[in-house]
Amino acid sequence: MRAAVLHEIGQDKLEVLDDVEATGFGPGKVRIRMRATGLCHSDLSAMNGVLPQPAPFVPGHEGAGEILEVGEDVRTLRPGDRVVVCWLPACGACPACRRGQTELCMSGFMNAGTPNFKRPGGDVFGFAGTGTFTEEVVVDAGCAVPVPDDVPFDIAALIGCGVTTGLGAALNTADVEAGSSVAVIGCGGVGISAIQGARLRGAAEIVAVDPVASRRESALKFGATRAVSPGELPDAKQQATAGEGFDYVFEVVGKSATARTAYEHTRRGGTLVVVGAGAMDDFLQLSMFELFFDEKRILPSMYGGGDVLRSYERTIALWRAGRVDLAGLITHRVPLAEINEALDGMRTGTALRTCIEI
Ligand SMILES: [Zn+2]
Ligand SMILES: [Zn+2]
Repeated sequence: MRAAVLHEIGQDKLEVLDDVEATGFGPGKVRIRMRATGLCHSDLSAMNGVLPQPAPFVPGHEGAGEILEVGEDVRTLRPGDRVVVCWLPACGACPACRRGQTELCMSGFMNAGTPNFKRPGGDVFGFAGTGTFTEEVVVDAGCAVPVPDDVPFDIAALIGCGVTTGLGAALNTADVEAGSSVAVIGCGGVGISAIQGARLRGAAEIVAVDPVASRRESALKFGATRAVSPGELPDAKQQATAGEGFDYVFEVVGKSATARTAYEHTRRGGTLVVVGAGAMDDFLQLSMFELFFDEKRILPSMYGGGDVLRSYERTIALWRAGRVDLAGLITHRVPLAEINEALDGMRTGTALRTCIEI
């Protein structure tokens, strides 16, 4: 079958091969025919080494498809079921799961050193234990979350990472208060989802911050009240908050420099929400004095910072009711064969989300 493979960390091109096989099928596993997968910034970060990932590997972790085959002991899924691939499955038994913080469950990382694919040249890993830039993938049954048949594959794929991450940051982690002021730094698919979450909660001011003009225009359509380039942020803070700073600032880039900017634009006693996935050797610097004296809360948000399956269900309910626009996030659609052009498009930053149709 076909899959897009990165041969070595640091390369910027994938090779679409047709000699790849999804491996590991057996008890507790399911085989999925992928139908749609989104390009998420974390895929680029795994390719360039910012996020740890063994190679060669099949990138992609935001996907949806249908079940082809279920292993022994799998009672909750059947062939033909429509599923979202969940890269952070919940075991249901560990202390984090029992507390309802399934985004902190480590069970999905236990298989991180096990290859998901093979080809005549040897083993091939899957990104984050999944790897969705492929026609078929084998994953633990817990990584395949059934969704109703009226959820199109492209929408279901978005729920697998970007939308869950962005909406959850606003609804779960920040718990944005009605009437508050919000700034969102970084307005790709995740940032736009955070904007939609802030709008749902009734934020009075939502300032979108992005260097790309087309993304700023999109942000206004999705509920931002102002959209500015990074250099215009200090003025926007002055106008939107009379200079005090925002009640909430979302950092959706994953860099210490933008996190520092976000911290400085958060009001005293306000909340900085760190959503971007950054590098292990990139350190955010804060003085002990400002940390104490300004009483700003720093809340990291991983995968929406809440019960993952509950977040999926909530997103589907909001989408059905027309309260969030998910289709509008998909600005580009390409077949798997054109994945390298799509990755280039993401590097230049014009796309909100690109959907690979498989
Ligand atoms: Zn668990
Ligand atoms: Zn992602």
